[in-house]
Amino acid sequence: MNTRVLDSPAAPSGTQVRLDTEILVVGAGFAGLAMAISLERAGMGSFVVIERAADLGGTWRENRYPGCACDIPSVLYSFSFARNPKWTRSYPLQQEIWDYLRFVADKFNVRRHIRFDAEMVETRWDEADMTWHTQLADGSTIVSRFIVAGFGPLSNPDVPRIAGLETFKGECWHSAQWRSDVDLRGKRVAVIGTGASAVQLVPRIAPEVAKLYVFQRTPGWILPKPDYPISPVQKWLRNFKPIAWLERQATYWMIESRAYGFTVNPNALKLAEGIARKHRDRQLQSAELRAKMTPTYRLGCKRIIPSNDYYPAFNLPQVELVTEGIAEIREHSIVDERGTEREVDVIILGTGFRTTDGLTPLKVYGAGGRELNDAWRDGMAAFYGVSIAGFPNFFLLLGPNTALGHNSVVLMIEAQVRHLMRVFKLLRATGARAVGVREDVQDAFNARLQRKMRGTVWSTGCKSWYLDKNGKNTTLWPEFTFDYFRKVERVRPENYTLIGAPATSAVRAAGPRGNG
Ligand SMILES: Cc1cc2nc3c(=O)[nH]c(=O)nc-3n(C[C@H](O)[C@H](O)[C@H](O)COP(=O)(O)OP(=O)(O)OC[C@H]3O[C@@H](n4cnc5c(N)ncnc54)[C@H](O)[C@@H]3O)c2cc1C
Repeated sequence: MNTRVLDSPAAPSGTQVRLDTEILVVGAGFAGLAMAISLERAGMGSFVVIERAADLGGTWRENRYPGCACDIPSVLYSFSFARNPKWTRSYPLQQEIWDYLRFVADKFNVRRHIRFDAEMVETRWDEADMTWHTQLADGSTIVSRFIVAGFGPLSNPDVPRIAGLETFKGECWHSAQWRSDVDLRGKRVAVIGTGASAVQLVPRIAPEVAKLYVFQRTPGWILPKPDYPISPVQKWLRNFKPIAWLERQATYWMIESRAYGFTVNPNALKLAEGIARKHRDRQLQSAELRAKMTPTYRLGCKRIIPSNDYYPAFNLPQVELVTEGIAEIREHSIVDERGTEREVDVIILGTGFRTTDGLTPLKVYGAGGRELNDAWRDGMAAFYGVSIAGFPNFFLLLGPNTALGHNSVVLMIEAQVRHLMRVFKLLRATGARAVGVREDVQDAFNARLQRKMRGTVWSTGCKSWYLDKNGKNTTLWPEFTFDYFRKVERVRPENYTLIGAPATSAVRAAGPRGNG
């Protein structure tokens, strides 16, 4: 990439700095693409998207295990500005979502901004010229004024530490790194974990394997999935914008109403527990299995899993649920804590993702050389999941506490992108060259957020991937999503330090405010 001298659209006119690009967007999943499209539509063409893989799509490019699908209806799990009247199912499979993202990238002409096989490994804030110097895995560097990072909250597979795992002589892979070259027919297979991915893949592989052992630590709450093919009439109706809009609104409010139980009154979720129990009783023949597969924590505390075919897989003679913990893995077998040894040819790790490790192994050095993972030693924290005190001009999409346990994160991504476009506008209006959230504002925001978290279902005592090693929920938004949209709708200058702006001191004098 050639370094050019660019006019900074965010800086006072005439300000010139040596930059490769004005804005560096990281990741080409839903988040990075949303940012790229917004910049393109606003005519802010000086941006580059770097993507460590060879194609766009993020989650939906990586996760190709059999049965992989979203668990939010596609009318909501898609961009509001790019509806897809072609969805074939209410909950489409991975391939269709991946195709949708490629279609969107082409429709808005942003593919030409994406640099594939470009992995960010380190970035450093240069305080003198107020630029970010980003180092890629291939040794090259990109200098930019801003970084907008859509790394993905579920993009780094979590490989468990199990004694002997590395000694296993058969095939072993994580659900997010599916091996389609291995034929599972007639094989003895172990699936470790019973989270969302395992629940989707177990019914697909169960009929073809010789033996399937499903190792369960904690059962999930499983609800019926209202998944059905979209009829030709429904598809045709979706071509009419007002009808498509109404369907999206109705779906949003139906799903959002669940947030009352999640964030305000967890006892309200007892009703859904009744539905889940009935679903289990209808689908599971064995009383022993019903007992073993019934959670003892409140529904919603861990992610709810919608599925119509998970329980029935356990009625097959070749499928066995193992609830004893794993003591050890040997060259050709798994030994449980009771000493029972089961011979297996393949191990599939359905063990989820590293969600609370911050950005490790990536290094982000902000003002004063402070490293972000260091700043997050006691838990990830940001301001509305987007800005981080001490890291000017560095923004996250779906950062701390902005993932959801009940609705589509695409809604959050769009709100964050709109918010960032307002931040850029603020910079232009004030003539500032850099912006960073004030530390006291961020601290007050997170103290409020964690107080709010105490009353949510996620704090009712279960162990989940929403919580970090200290038991703190640093992943989810603890209120209604419309509260979030409203709060980030405005960018309040008094919450930020505007560097290089003539009015900086006046702005800083105002007290912190509740909203973005
Ligand atoms: C199996 C599965 C099912 C899911 N189902 C749902 C659902 O139904 N509803 C829902 O709301 N959410 C769901 N999610 C969560 C899902 O991750 C988000 O909905 C959404 O895809 C996040 O988009 P993103 O762009 O933030 O992240 P991703 O889609 O993960 O994209 C991040 C991109 O950044 C790239 N990247 C990461 N680090 C670097 C780096 N250092 N340098 C360069 N590039 C980098 C990655 O390669 C990736 O392409 C699901 C997740 C999984 C794994």
